[in-house]
Amino acid sequence: MPATSVLDLIGNTPLVELKHMPASGSARVLLKMEAANPSGSLKDRIVKHIIEEAEAAGTLRPHHIITDASSGNTGIAIGMVAALKRYRSRIFMPETKSIERRKIMRAWGTELVLTSGEDQNSHIWAVQEAARDSDTYFYLDQNGNPGNWKAHYEGIGGELVEQTGGRIDCFVAGAGTGGVLMGVARRFADENVQCRVVAVEPDNPHSHIEGLLHFDGSFVPSIWEPALIDEQVRVSDEVAFETARRLAREEGLFCGVSTGATTAIALEEARRLGVGATVVAVAGDRGERYLSTPLVTERT
Ligand code: PMP
Repeated sequence: MPATSVLDLIGNTPLVELKHMPASGSARVLLKMEAANPSGSLKDRIVKHIIEEAEAAGTLRPHHIITDASSGNTGIAIGMVAALKRYRSRIFMPETKSIERRKIMRAWGTELVLTSGEDQNSHIWAVQEAARDSDTYFYLDQNGNPGNWKAHYEGIGGELVEQTGGRIDCFVAGAGTGGVLMGVARRFADENVQCRVVAVEPDNPHSHIEGLLHFDGSFVPSIWEPALIDEQVRVSDEVAFETARRLAREEGLFCGVSTGATTAIALEEARRLGVGATVVAVAGDRGERYLSTPLVTERT
């Protein structure tokens, strides 16, 4: 049946096995390819879920400007859905994020407010201030809206149970808002999938692993419940960038930097678990979104 709307193309993303990078004697490593969503990342799922829920509840009205704080991918997803549904959108983003993100948002007609790069949370404080004007704004609030994790409970969580028959020994995802981790962990618990859930975060607050949050206590998303996570692991920028480069060269998968981070940890977990086990990592977006960063250089 042909898709009738861009929104119908969201979800049902492929699961791809890494053929070359896992060391011999390792578990198999599968990547959930979220770049297959129409705006190019896992955030299409939450934006569709939250906007449609708000339309049904009557809290999102035609005159509203849809807004949120985003390190890029949520803003891009909001831009796509807002364009399709004829809403205005305005995104608060730190000035340090890659230029590709700004340009893609401009393509959808999204307005951008750039905030200081000194504080990793500057865009969050700025949108919270602006969103007090609830006549003007519909605040999507990815860090506090339970629709975020619920979209992944239904989406990534439900799809993974189906795609693997519920046989997953370890699940690895980056922690930005924590939506993916909270949703998938709850789905696995409800479906009795016996799986270790590992959260990946950058090892410093000025990291260039875009989309992930370094938990330094200055801001914790209110949807984040540490009890649902078995382990929280830190990754350096160097390891994340290098693993992302290897994914392109060795596996033919040109992914974003956060995928380098989740894959690096997934490979370690696979080595520990050994043959017969299955590790799944989330590949949140594609490498083209980082062409202006050190991900690809003339010398790479
Ligand atoms: N990877 C990428 C590329 C992202 O943009 C994000 C979210 N900002 C994440 C991972 C983390 O997902 P979540 O917000 O659900 O924790």
